[in-house]
Amino acid sequence: MRCEVCGAADLAPAMIGTDRLLHVAGEYSLGRCSACGAFGQDPPPSDVSLLEYYPEEYGPYQHGGWLSEIAAANGLRARERHVLSLGLKPGAMLDVGCATGRFLDRMRRRGWSVTGVELVSGIAQRARDLFGLSVITGTLETAGFEDQSYDLVTLWDVLEHVRSPRCTLREITRILRPGGWLVFRVPNPDSVGARIFGERWAGWDFPRHLWVAPKTALDLALTNAGLRLVRASSTSGRFALSALSIRYTAQEMIGAKWLANAVSWMGSSPFARLASAPYFSLSSMFGQGSLLTFFAQKV
Ligand SMILES: [Zn+2]
Repeated sequence: MRCEVCGAADLAPAMIGTDRLLHVAGEYSLGRCSACGAFGQDPPPSDVSLLEYYPEEYGPYQHGGWLSEIAAANGLRARERHVLSLGLKPGAMLDVGCATGRFLDRMRRRGWSVTGVELVSGIAQRARDLFGLSVITGTLETAGFEDQSYDLVTLWDVLEHVRSPRCTLREITRILRPGGWLVFRVPNPDSVGARIFGERWAGWDFPRHLWVAPKTALDLALTNAGLRLVRASSTSGRFALSALSIRYTAQEMIGAKWLANAVSWMGSSPFARLASAPYFSLSSMFGQGSLLTFFAQKV
């Protein structure tokens, strides 16, 4: 299968994994591109099975208890900070994979004119009902926006879910105005976490992540699409992803359920969060954090 990040080479078998998050049945194989180092699901899923990977209990679609609400609010503030760091004056923005629309709602309050795209129709409807947002059901490619209609396009944890990152990036270039910005966040396969946890690293998220690519590969893909990478920052405080990886490892390597539960509880407790803070700041500082945020501009 052809690499859909660089388009240059075929994939070689790299890893086999299962769905540790939502337990969709089956084994999924990842190949690795010999040219750019991107990992891709090979063979890719059919359109029907792709929708089955996103039941409505999928995390980003949930509005949960107070603890997860605090985490969600922190996550939204981090997204806002990233965008505000560009110092743009409000204009037209599009959030691809907007889920229930909470980020768009915040940006609208800051004066932006906002639109969303969401694959799952029930979730797109929830964004319309909750916030009165304009959300198109489907993919970016099927939405068919006009040329040069946006000043800013964002994708939070979404590019790794699309069938062809290089086609998605080209489509984004088409709908951005000259000088417009693209901000997106993806899992980092060069991270310390990916190396420590191997196939149990939560960043693989079988079978939902179709492409997981290193920074160099995405830099190349951006250039090929007519965008210029201005900066990429390794995100600090990526605790949730590591806590998940710890839980998967504990569940599978420790037979006794109570012990595995204890270890996963330790892995996600406020104490563990505090104790591991120096590790997360250091790994982020050296570009080794589990997530990378890219800031690119249309040339
Ligand atoms: Zn490639």
